[in-house]
Amino acid sequence: MMPLDKRLIALFTTVSFCMPLLGAQHDYPIQPVPFTSVHLNDGFWTPRIETNRAVTIPFAFQKCEDTGRVENFVHAAEALRGQIADKDRKIPPFPFDDTDIYKVIEGASYTLSVKPDPMLDSYVDGLIAKIAAAQEPDGYLYTARTIDPEHPHKWALAHRWEGEEVLSHELYNLGHLYEAAVAHHQATGKRTLLDIALRTADLLCATFGPGKQTIWPGHQIVEMGLVKLYRVTGDERYLNLAKFMLDSRGPGKSPYNQANLRVVDQTEAVGHAVRATYMYSGMADVAAMTGDTGYVHAMDAIWENVVGKKLYITGGIGAIGAGEAFGGNYELPNLTAYNETCASIGNDFWNERLFLLHGDAKYIDVMERTLYNGLISGVSLDGKSFFYQNPLESNGRRGRSPWFGVACCPGNITRFMASVPGYVYALSGNTLYVNLFAGGTADVRIGDRTVKLVQETRYPWDGRVKISVDPGASAALTIKVRIPGWARGQAVPSDLYRFTDVQKEEANLTVNGKRVHVDLDKGYVTLDRAWKPGDVIELNLPMPVRRVAANSQVASDSGRIAIQRGPIVFAAEAVDSPDHRVRNLVLTDGEKLTAEFRADLLNGVEVVKSRAVSLSFDSAGRVVRKNQDFTAIPYYAWANRGRDEMVVWIPNVEATAKPTPWPTLAMKSKVSASQDGQRVTAEGIEKHPEAVNDGEEPKSSSDPASYFDWWPEKGKTEWIEYTLPQASRVSQVEVYWFDDTGRGEVRVPVSWRLLYKDGSEWKPVTGTGAGGVERDKYNKLTFTPVTTDGLRLEVSMQPQFSAGVQKWKVQ
Ligand SMILES: [Zn+2]
Repeated sequence: MMPLDKRLIALFTTVSFCMPLLGAQHDYPIQPVPFTSVHLNDGFWTPRIETNRAVTIPFAFQKCEDTGRVENFVHAAEALRGQIADKDRKIPPFPFDDTDIYKVIEGASYTLSVKPDPMLDSYVDGLIAKIAAAQEPDGYLYTARTIDPEHPHKWALAHRWEGEEVLSHELYNLGHLYEAAVAHHQATGKRTLLDIALRTADLLCATFGPGKQTIWPGHQIVEMGLVKLYRVTGDERYLNLAKFMLDSRGPGKSPYNQANLRVVDQTEAVGHAVRATYMYSGMADVAAMTGDTGYVHAMDAIWENVVGKKLYITGGIGAIGAGEAFGGNYELPNLTAYNETCASIGNDFWNERLFLLHGDAKYIDVMERTLYNGLISGVSLDGKSFFYQNPLESNGRRGRSPWFGVACCPGNITRFMASVPGYVYALSGNTLYVNLFAGGTADVRIGDRTVKLVQETRYPWDGRVKISVDPGASAALTIKVRIPGWARGQAVPSDLYRFTDVQKEEANLTVNGKRVHVDLDKGYVTLDRAWKPGDVIELNLPMPVRRVAANSQVASDSGRIAIQRGPIVFAAEAVDSPDHRVRNLVLTDGEKLTAEFRADLLNGVEVVKSRAVSLSFDSAGRVVRKNQDFTAIPYYAWANRGRDEMVVWIPNVEATAKPTPWPTLAMKSKVSASQDGQRVTAEGIEKHPEAVNDGEEPKSSSDPASYFDWWPEKGKTEWIEYTLPQASRVSQVEVYWFDDTGRGEVRVPVSWRLLYKDGSEWKPVTGTGAGGVERDKYNKLTFTPVTTDGLRLEVSMQPQFSAGVQKWKVQ
């Protein structure tokens, strides 16, 4: 147990952090009620926050230990003292590996602020001691260089900061350090990590700024971090440096990290989505603290672009895998949707900040959509496996991972989940905003009184919310209760998505049983009165199951609908479907949708039931239709019961469904390939040789939907093999090559040949010319018939390139 005085200090510093800084000219006009003052006891968030505390945080720390991320600091410290063995001069695989520890320390600090835990506290102290020992005498902190300054990480380049604007991530590491340091200081009252952070920030201030060197972060976040250091210290150099870095971006540099234009001239969300949202959040912070309206105008335009053209129905953003980037306007593919978990977190950081600037509930609408759908989908229900990407459709080969080579997402989950209660309420003068609905209590300091709030609700499963207000004695207060966009017939605050039906029941609200006219101001009902102990607000948000349609410009959602109930977006998962498929289903518009709560399923979820038609091809290629039961679960809960097909946008016409193919010889074969056959990228994307016989049809050689390649192997000869279900007579194969010219390093091969299994021997087929290597089509090879139970494609790559196969058919 922490001594009482320390706990008081922790509470005081946490609360004071969210109050306007003494002497500051500007701040957000609205301030969040800190999560330390909001005590949830509901059935939805409380178990998740507890799983995060008890499971995910210790698990993530253990992964940081197991993967050498902690040892990197130890080795950097040894290198600084000249005591390192040559074998220990191992540069981290990625130059941002340090951030994973910082993020989990931040998450742990948030949990320490609400639940003292001496073991965790002292474990974090131990980590901080290791970080301190790895800091260079002038404050520089970056293990990817310090471990071996003569041969640093190749992305770090030869000199400090030289690689920053491209790949070194030196400032990205510091940004996460600052966020962690402030959290740790506020949680524990200790200055250990904060002092480390301030030494690095002082080095930055001595090196960069007007009249000194110029720098801008290749991966943003340091701007937000510097503003936090400013808030906690009052030292304006940190704020000024954040603004200097923002103003040093662009024009004419890479759109990948939002440096194509000056920040104040940007109007469209482009490039890497996590970098973008972190930058926009940093701009909001600097704008709030300086009163800069140029930043605000730019952000408002970018927000209109995202919410109008680049937001998934799940709240995910960053559609494109190449560059982890925003796509073009309305480019929102489902199967290949990237939607990094960190981008969802960044989207919520940004929308919360825009709310604090503008006081408009439309930002909370976007935040809530992301929060309940495309953000918490990033962590499994047991808290121990994660999604880096959050697609809206799966071919059944997507699974969660316990960790990633690039492990940004799990650490980000630990810090975000711990701070969720801080998004429920906000305050501006004596106006209290009720933004999210979650059962629990809150003690809100308004002027010189503490107002006690008690929320009782089963949200998001039920739209009835009871809020008891106790100001101690009668007090004039304004309480603004958010009426979510979804309860006002608005799927999103733009024309990107719309409900297809007419809302039958309106939201209603009473105070002490008396109906209040729902007259909305920026999405809020304003309750302006003298509140007294015992006053009760009752809100009723009807939650029918509704269909959502996308703007007709979103090609991938055309002929499809999504299902939403309250803030929850649903998905059909094959495990709930009679024929164990869902991409072949048609849910026609006339079918009634009903909801029921299933306490036994997925830790308790509302499911949506209906009837659908499943489509399949018979042997003659005719479509066979079957009526069957349809079930959908909340999207966030998918992939908690193994790997399965999943679909959010469900066909409502036959033309968009994928009838289950009649199984061909190739489809019935078992596939294996050289190089283990199945490998996982650092971002958790798995490559399955099963992609080549899944019966899908590629749109082109570069179609990223479903393929297999041998990348990063280059210039080699590799193989892929079918084990046929029984010995069969074959005389023809067709191969559709994968080629990602313009995006990656895979090209059609130089040549290939087909081998067949004769007993235990592989022999080439005969009677043919060379197999074709043309792009964007099937390359047919006909040969003297053989009877065999095994076929092998032997593929010779171009010298500097890899190779891959989209599809491989056999006759
Ligand atoms: Zn991430």
